[in-house]
Amino acid sequence: MSLANGRHYLAIPGPSVMPDRVLQAMHRPAPNIYTGQLVDMTATIVADLKQVARTRHGVAIYIANGHGAWEAALCNTLSRGDKVLILGTGRFCQGWGELARGLGIVTEIIDFGFRAKVDLDRVAEALRADTGHQIKAVLAVQVDTASSVRNDIPGLRRVLDETGHPALLFSDNIACLAVDEFHMDDWGVDVMVAGCQKGLMVPPGMAFVYFNDKADAARETADCVTPYWDWRPRANPALYYQHFCGTAPTHHLYGLREALDMILHEEGLEAVWHRHKVLAGAVWAAFDAWGQGSEIALNIADPSARSHAVTTVRIGGDAGTRLRHWLEHEAGITLGIPLGAPEEEANSIFRIGHMGHVNAHMVLGVLGAIQAGMIALGIPHGPGGLDVAAGVIARG
Ligand SMILES: *Cc1c(COP(=O)(O)O)cnc(C)c1O
Repeated sequence: MSLANGRHYLAIPGPSVMPDRVLQAMHRPAPNIYTGQLVDMTATIVADLKQVARTRHGVAIYIANGHGAWEAALCNTLSRGDKVLILGTGRFCQGWGELARGLGIVTEIIDFGFRAKVDLDRVAEALRADTGHQIKAVLAVQVDTASSVRNDIPGLRRVLDETGHPALLFSDNIACLAVDEFHMDDWGVDVMVAGCQKGLMVPPGMAFVYFNDKADAARETADCVTPYWDWRPRANPALYYQHFCGTAPTHHLYGLREALDMILHEEGLEAVWHRHKVLAGAVWAAFDAWGQGSEIALNIADPSARSHAVTTVRIGGDAGTRLRHWLEHEAGITLGIPLGAPEEEANSIFRIGHMGHVNAHMVLGVLGAIQAGMIALGIPHGPGGLDVAAGVIARG
């Protein structure tokens, strides 16, 4: 008999769990889009979006998903024939590169594989080799949601500075904004892209492109920019509708206002980062214990290179697919499918999203259900995983 009835937990890395408060804030009649509450509230949202990224620079809001932010970032800074350096650590930077090529931008790719972070020495080598400064931007993901790696973004800034290379530094924080620590200005990031549906806990439909003055200067000559994707009127609108180049995403703005209140004004951004760090640590501890004497392993071996937003697990054979199905049908939990993994390993891999509106009992619940699934399916695993996870939670 299935034990799946009850509240379902969609433990995939986006869209993430949406707080009831966010959904309720969206459940309202259409607001006036010319004057009044919505217009006033949007100004507070822009200010808080900057706070959540730790920047004082510009931010443009798009009615789009993450792919829209990717394209907006590219077309506001680059021209056809320009070259960008793509740092592959899973799936997502490569996806950004595919959009770039579609725009007529030339991509040079360094692929660090599915299980490692960006090697800064190899980036330095590529930048030094580019004596003519053909590379106009270095594209990186802070967290690759496929591999669950977390890259060293301030390290990339250091490499650009040390090699004296003038390329812009782009960071994709779609998975990890308001999850993993990030300081746009202090870390010297020129362009950052984010979406609302992961750490920000809002239904998919809004994306954000942050840019500093250096990136905005590149906008002067970028020939890929088009009126709709132009970040300038969006970031500095003379009239309210220019924020969105048309009708505002009215209900999403109410949802986002609520989510930013929860993150910045109630829990606090540093506490949010800490919560995700501890919850991720509980997940890692469980799998480290289950991996003793078995095939189970975290995809990223180095804890300092793991995201706090998502964990990619390798469990051996076809056990990943079997376990996902068991959890879905017997325990009311949907885990993330493998993405970007080599074909022959795909059935071994699954991902756990633990970003956004997630707390201790939810993570312990997922881990407990995973252990139940491993027992039910006869998947070999070491002892004590739940005990060590509970210990991590207990220490806070
Ligand atoms: C989810 C995600 C994207 C893509 O976002 P969409 O909203 O699906 O377009 C891009 N980059 C990263 C790191 C992501 O996690």
